Amino acid sequence: MANENLTAVLYKKKDLHLENTVIPEPGKGQVQVSIQHVGICGTDLQIYEHGCFGDLEVKEPLAIGHESAGVVSKLGEGVTSLKVGDKVALESVFGCMACSDCKKGNYNLCEDVKICGTPSTWGSMTRYFVHNAADCYKLPDNVSTEEGALMEPLTVAIHSCRRAGVCLGSKVLVLGDGPLGVMTVQAAKASGATQVGITGKHQYRLNIAKKIGADFVLNVTSKDPKEVAMIVIDAFGGKPEISIESTGVQSSIQAAIFATHNGENVTISGLRENNVSIPIVNAGFREVDIRGVAANAHCYPIARAMVASGQVNLKPLLTHMFALEQANEAFKTAETKECMKVMIKCSKD
Ligand SMILES: [Zn+2]
Ligand SMILES: [Zn+2]
Repeated sequence: MANENLTAVLYKKKDLHLENTVIPEPGKGQVQVSIQHVGICGTDLQIYEHGCFGDLEVKEPLAIGHESAGVVSKLGEGVTSLKVGDKVALESVFGCMACSDCKKGNYNLCEDVKICGTPSTWGSMTRYFVHNAADCYKLPDNVSTEEGALMEPLTVAIHSCRRAGVCLGSKVLVLGDGPLGVMTVQAAKASGATQVGITGKHQYRLNIAKKIGADFVLNVTSKDPKEVAMIVIDAFGGKPEISIESTGVQSSIQAAIFATHNGENVTISGLRENNVSIPIVNAGFREVDIRGVAANAHCYPIARAMVASGQVNLKPLLTHMFALEQANEAFKTAETKECMKVMIKCSKD
């Protein structure tokens, strides 16, 4: 048992090994979780494809994965908030809890922030994982661990809508048809937006976006951002007030700026290219603000309530499931984009 902790470990780009690591024991305030499900995220794909996350390089073997849920299998000293057998979703972002950002509640902005599965913080694509009890959110009976794992990108979608100021009656453009973009459509609708449109390049994914409630989907083939903006403005019958950009790709960010109404904002939730060129005079002269999104802060309780109440249905987004032993195949499938959320089942049974 002590060595049967199968874990997906990345050595360098596209070099992912399945290997047995020691089953970790929970320390004070921690729990050991038998991980059931882990989703593959755009961030995981980027780390897998490029061996880095922004400026952070994979220099030592790294267990990847951060969208996870499981069952508590052991309690560390002093843990009273959970018990063995509880289903939990694991929040993967945590700060030092001592700096001024953490004290203000912005733990996602902590200078020492850690995100599971990014260099050099051990990730959760493994059978057994140890995590702070305070970062484990107990799931109600009617929420599965598959949905618990899907709650991580939902928290980013919720945080994006909060950063963007989506509210009753908002007209929201979402750019990018990946899981984050589609969940942003769901979060915007749940926040009261009356008109939510989404752009993308993959009809398979746009069909799912339509199914979960997008008012319209736009399959944009043009690479010209002004042309894309015109298509969007046409579809909305005017410029949308808020654009939430989930791809991080330069031409899409440019299209978002051109499409957004004067005095409103473009919120960037997809971080990909380190440096992009943007039409700053256009944005500045029209007072279009550009806002960033750093994962999430305090959005797990909201995500859990939204899923448990049925306000958001994440199930249509889960399109592919692989066993942990098939992690390489799962990453290759995620790369094709002929999928929505690709998930790994980490438990044996
Ligand atoms: Zn993620
Ligand atoms: Zn801090």
